[in-house]
Amino acid sequence: MTPPRSHADVFAGFPLVDVASWLGRKSLLVIAPHPDDESLGMGGLIASAAALGRAVDVVFVTSGEGSHRGSPTHPPAVLARVRREEATRAVDILAPGRNAAHFLDLPDGGLSTLPRPWEAVEALAACMTPDTIVCVTSDTDPHPDHRQSFAWAREASRKTGATLWTYPVWTWMSDTPADESLSGVRLDVSARLDAKRSAIAAHRSQHGLVIDDAEEAFTLPRQMVERLCQPHEVLIRIHE
Ligand SMILES: [Zn+2]
Repeated sequence: MTPPRSHADVFAGFPLVDVASWLGRKSLLVIAPHPDDESLGMGGLIASAAALGRAVDVVFVTSGEGSHRGSPTHPPAVLARVRREEATRAVDILAPGRNAAHFLDLPDGGLSTLPRPWEAVEALAACMTPDTIVCVTSDTDPHPDHRQSFAWAREASRKTGATLWTYPVWTWMSDTPADESLSGVRLDVSARLDAKRSAIAAHRSQHGLVIDDAEEAFTLPRQMVERLCQPHEVLIRIHE
């Protein structure tokens, strides 16, 4: 019996494809549960699609106000504003001059218990057409907000006829063996890595650079950032 393989090993077998031929004439919608997911998972694709002249939009489901707790200077409403500003800057680096960042401002850490989840589905569906390629965080990611965003995007894409793909973020750090039936592509984003790194860096609060008085503070693991700054970005195909 072959030993179980990691997600990284399974992803390494996905074919390497060129963004221009993969995207065709379609527009791109990236759904990020939190500010930074878009740059970490899809920064190269967003920059490539913008450089190709395609329509590009990024929807942030939450404003990430849960990353630092108990900070006197950055209570949740202030932190949300800081993170929306960082996200806007990051998206402007990737897709300059497009005003491509949009915010639903739903509660960070609370997506799976939202009282009116259909409103989120409708808000996402309003950004989709049959000619949209939608990329949302993978349901292989352990974070409940990432999985909930995936479920809403799947529902919205079914309603609208948009094409759905998923991107891994926290999956890269997971020890859980991969499902061998996963399939997908590796997009060649080697020409856009500088923009991607700059966009990741624009999320300054997530690199320990903004808030120094929190009781609990999140910092992006360097190892994960490096894994996500490879010359290709992984997209996993959805099997209906
Ligand atoms: Zn996230």
